[in-house]
Amino acid sequence: DAPDRRRYRIALIPGDGIGGEVVPAARQVLESLGLDLTFVELAAGWETFQREGTALPAETLAALERCHGALFGAVSSPSHRVEGYTSPIIALRRHLDLYANLRPVVSAPVPGSQPDVDLLIVRENTECLYVKQEQLEDDGETAVARRVITRRASARIARVAFERARARQAASARPGRSPRVTVVHKANVLPLTDGLFRETALAVAADYPDVAVEEQIVDSMAYRLIREPQRYDVILAPNLYGDILSDAAAALVGGLGLVASANVGDRFVVAEPVHGSAPDIAGQGIANPVATVRAAALLLAALGEPEAAGRIERAVGRVLADGIWTPDLGGTARTGQVTRAIIQALQSS
Ligand code: ATP
Ligand code: MG
Repeated sequence: DAPDRRRYRIALIPGDGIGGEVVPAARQVLESLGLDLTFVELAAGWETFQREGTALPAETLAALERCHGALFGAVSSPSHRVEGYTSPIIALRRHLDLYANLRPVVSAPVPGSQPDVDLLIVRENTECLYVKQEQLEDDGETAVARRVITRRASARIARVAFERARARQAASARPGRSPRVTVVHKANVLPLTDGLFRETALAVAADYPDVAVEEQIVDSMAYRLIREPQRYDVILAPNLYGDILSDAAAALVGGLGLVASANVGDRFVVAEPVHGSAPDIAGQGIANPVATVRAAALLLAALGEPEAAGRIERAVGRVLADGIWTPDLGGTARTGQVTRAIIQALQSS
């Protein structure tokens, strides 16, 4: 092994429901890599809230400070508003300033996946409507939400998008494709907020003459993403549009059980599967672990271990190609079988 092999301390936050099944699965995959990893299991989520009165205990936050990154499972959100409960993942994003949400969307060898898709959605992760400033006016007859876009946040997320476009080009020989960033907005209707996002992104683009830039109004983006996902490389969007497009895009390549995202800041990363806690199948041992295993790969890539991340991705690809599928993909395999198959594929690579 290389003498400069790095050691990583990784927080595992299973959360609720199937989080308690898929995070341990991803841990087994990580443990089989031969890297120097230590794990710290931490509490957060709805069950934690019910037990401790907070969804994100102070001990969890303190322990995170001593880790390099975290793998997050899922949290149930109560269907009604509960006093004092806020989603821990949103709180974590804010607390750790995880300003970029990165969602790779790549074709998978499963039914229902579009072929030849290989794109990355870069979503601003701190502002827009997610500042959560709502109020009632006019005796409750009018509800108003504040949507905040700043030049600072727009510029730093734009830099992430252009840097990623460059890095993607460098990492893979993609014949016939040149790096490109598609800037999503609705500046025709919202010239001040989306106008600022657009203008800032285009200004950043000037620093990346080797990366093509184009704009797309969000409604037409949704249409074209479904119609011709193959044409996109990096998609850059403000928070709300990015949120919606990210989940729509997951449906293009096999669904909730396969897709992950990374919340990235300058000093920390929290990777997570797209899906929620899936209470309808929790405890049955049939949850698809692939999204969380891929989240683990995103975590390693963000920590500076792209090679290990690539090994995981290739192992997952082989297992899916072999038809080792959980019921959400139409198969009969259980969580443990898929996990073992991934580890086996890793060891024979
Ligand atoms: P939450 O409130 O935690 O988001 P939810 O009811 O919205 O819970 P999701 O986790 O978002 O549930 O899942 C939506 C549907 O997709 C459910 O039917 C669930 O069983 C299924 N699903 C989600 N993730 C997986 C997975 N990893 N493996 C198999 N099925 C899944
Ligand atoms: Mg959900």
